Amino acid sequence: MTDILDLTAKQAADAVAAGELDPTELFEAYRTRAAADELNAYTWVADEAPAAAAAAQPAPLAGVPLAVKDLFCTEGVPSQAGSRILEGYRPPYTATVVAGLHRAGAPLLAKTNQDEFAMGSSNENSAYGPVRNPWDHDRVPGGSSGGSAAAVAAGLAPWALGTDTGGSIRQPAALCGIVGLKPTYGAVSRYGMIAFASSLDQAGPLTRDVTDAALLFRHMVGRDACDSTSLEFPEEIRLPSAERLDGIRLGVPAELSEGGGIEAGVREVFQRALAKAEELGASIEECSLPHAPHALSAYYVLAPAEASSNLARYDGVRYGLRHDADEGLVAMYTHTRHDGFGPEVKRRILIGTYALSSGYYEAYYGRAQQVRTKIAEDFTHAFERFDFIVTPTAPTVAFKLGEKTADPLAMYLNDYCTVPMSLAGIPAISIPAGVSDGLPVGFQLAGPAFSENRILDASYALEQAFGFDGSKARR
Ligand code: GLN
Repeated sequence: MTDILDLTAKQAADAVAAGELDPTELFEAYRTRAAADELNAYTWVADEAPAAAAAAQPAPLAGVPLAVKDLFCTEGVPSQAGSRILEGYRPPYTATVVAGLHRAGAPLLAKTNQDEFAMGSSNENSAYGPVRNPWDHDRVPGGSSGGSAAAVAAGLAPWALGTDTGGSIRQPAALCGIVGLKPTYGAVSRYGMIAFASSLDQAGPLTRDVTDAALLFRHMVGRDACDSTSLEFPEEIRLPSAERLDGIRLGVPAELSEGGGIEAGVREVFQRALAKAEELGASIEECSLPHAPHALSAYYVLAPAEASSNLARYDGVRYGLRHDADEGLVAMYTHTRHDGFGPEVKRRILIGTYALSSGYYEAYYGRAQQVRTKIAEDFTHAFERFDFIVTPTAPTVAFKLGEKTADPLAMYLNDYCTVPMSLAGIPAISIPAGVSDGLPVGFQLAGPAFSENRILDASYALEQAFGFDGSKARR
């Protein structure tokens, strides 16, 4: 048999269901592999394989183990969200999506490293050290779901959960050469996800291929009484099977695919990908998202504003770190937050608090909300003419560790192509389309709300045509 670590999650699930693979053996193989994690992708790994479930019916995910971004609460298991302020925090409950996947037969293998509170694009904002990119250990894996992306790309996990607020699933998927899906806002429960920006945060799969993304996503969706913004997904998630793209109209927004910000090597891979889509029968036309160039500016008001409010709960009183020097309550708050938060988180709290303060609220927050609406309208108009909008996922390939840490604005530009979809609440996927300088390049495909089945189908057809080989990163 081929090495069990080489099986995709779907192949492993099929092998277990056929009685050819023992799920405990599968779990142990990944545990052993995880113990040799040279990327710092994991912040916690399970001690032992879960006791075999004596279920009457085999679970649909058949015991294929799951790596989970550390900001998902997992009962009794450290859930630190990349932050010092939550060091050692073991929640008394498990996030809805993780619990649901567990019930579907995907046991928790490990928690993955991430940028602190999901703020970042390189995983260098983690209090638990940076993660390395399996394609080149001197480079970043992207962020903020960098540990999840690196783990899947390196074969440390069959599949993983991440979250995306402005690009944190899609950009690390692109930089690590794997598939990452950001669902429609509301498709997946946020209950038990440690919050960054609640109107944008969405959980999604990071997987080796599109089929695995569909399989995992199928067991993530649904309305949850514990999250009032969650919705029933209108249809069952199907495993993709499309071979052609006949009749599919792809819109290429000039604003997100041209210009100096996007590296020449990335543009080349993107153009080759468009040519392949055309060979599969798709029509390709330029389109316009006129407000998309303002998406980052709006995002960097709205996301910090929501974050400043969400992070007010870390005060040393309820849980997590407490720095108490017997100098009174306010000093305790101040020292706790001073010691517990890293510099990027502090920067966002400052920006967000300022943007929400009386006298500035309308000028910043109110204005950014108006821009957000304009961006959503741009997509609505575009989808009258096109089935999908396609762009490069990230403007560059994986960059060197330390290369952008001194320049937050350069770091923020990583999400130039992904933030517009987040603000519009629409689904988007990144699939690996090729390499530039030996490093993976992602192709982003976005569709209207709840078009995930169609997105997965089109991505599947493209995936076969791109023929991307990710095995190099697993050696
Ligand atoms: N990189 C973006 C940020 O730092 C997006 C992060 C995310 O999607 N969680 O906010």
